[in-house]
Amino acid sequence: MKTIIITGGAGFIGSALIRYIITKTSYKVINVDKLTYASNIKSLDSKKWGPRYKLEKIDICNSVRIRNLLKKYQPNLIFHLAAESHVDNSILNSSEFIKTNILGTYNLLEETRKYYLSLNSIKKNSFRFHHISTDEVYGDLEKKENPFTEESKYKPSSPYSASKASSDHLVRAWFRTYKLPVIITNCSNNYGPYQNTEKFIPKIIYNAINKKTIPIYGNGKQIRDWLYVDDHVEAIILVAMKGKVGETYNIGGNNEKENIYIAKYICNQFNKKYKNNNFDYSKLIKFVDDRPGHDKRYAVNNRKIFNELKWNPKETFDTGIIKTIEWFINHDVAK
Ligand code: NAD
Repeated sequence: MKTIIITGGAGFIGSALIRYIITKTSYKVINVDKLTYASNIKSLDSKKWGPRYKLEKIDICNSVRIRNLLKKYQPNLIFHLAAESHVDNSILNSSEFIKTNILGTYNLLEETRKYYLSLNSIKKNSFRFHHISTDEVYGDLEKKENPFTEESKYKPSSPYSASKASSDHLVRAWFRTYKLPVIITNCSNNYGPYQNTEKFIPKIIYNAINKKTIPIYGNGKQIRDWLYVDDHVEAIILVAMKGKVGETYNIGGNNEKENIYIAKYICNQFNKKYKNNNFDYSKLIKFVDDRPGHDKRYAVNNRKIFNELKWNPKETFDTGIIKTIEWFINHDVAK
């Protein structure tokens, strides 16, 4: 039985990845998570999963604990998702972003390198270190520019994206210098069940449910490409199993939308669903001062992952957002 270590498995994407692996494969999963404010262990139905799932509350910056963990579980694959992930927090205080995203990734790479050296050649051949990163490392795009490819220049704007760009560089260096078998994926904005309500789409839905003001930065014309979280999970599993070692794959949702379009779209869904309330949800939208250094547009080109691995997102924005709205309406999420 294969053993997979997932760092950040109590977070939004990590928990979706664990739910998928536990329900659709026979692999054993070790969730390595510091359980910061961003984690949500309710997203992991672990009582039902038995010995195939184990949570290890560990900070990835702790080299001794990571070393012992690798020795104990002898993983075949590591998915590295643990990170500080909220751009606004990185602007207010970047130190945890530098620690976890850069030093934590360095620490994990270094301990994984030593562990990798201890493996026999059969296990070495199939071992992978898969680093999950963001399209924000490429900076922003003008409206007329083509979406980012894997060859686009790194030009991060925020402390968050700069810390993720740094971690990508470290991962590539550990491949080139030490031949650690790594793969990197850079994906666009995810959305879906269990996402923290500090993030854009859950905040709109949560505030609509609670009839609270929906803040929109600047003029709301910033464009993001939206990827439903389960599409992302399927893409990274495919890349980990069939992608080429040392390569980077961009993962996008083919759903470029302006922020204000999304806010209005969600409000319209609430207007339709609760038409008897006689309340116009779009009245909750309020423009607020823009985020400093706010990127105008992100979009990624999916050609490589489609051509090599035949992956395409299954959800359109319309299908994914309806599922997400329904999920938040039916689950009591504390802010
Ligand atoms: P999240 O904030 O929901 O979850 C992060 C998890 O990492 C949390 O459970 C937290 O407790 C854990 N963590 C933080 N610091 C840690 C540390 N020092 N040691 C161990 N665990 C720690 O994040 P997410 O949205 O699920 O994102 C997961 C990964 O995907 C991140 O690396 C992020 O950069 C990347 N990513 C996210 C998106 C997105 O739209 N959410 C898009 C592109 C890339």
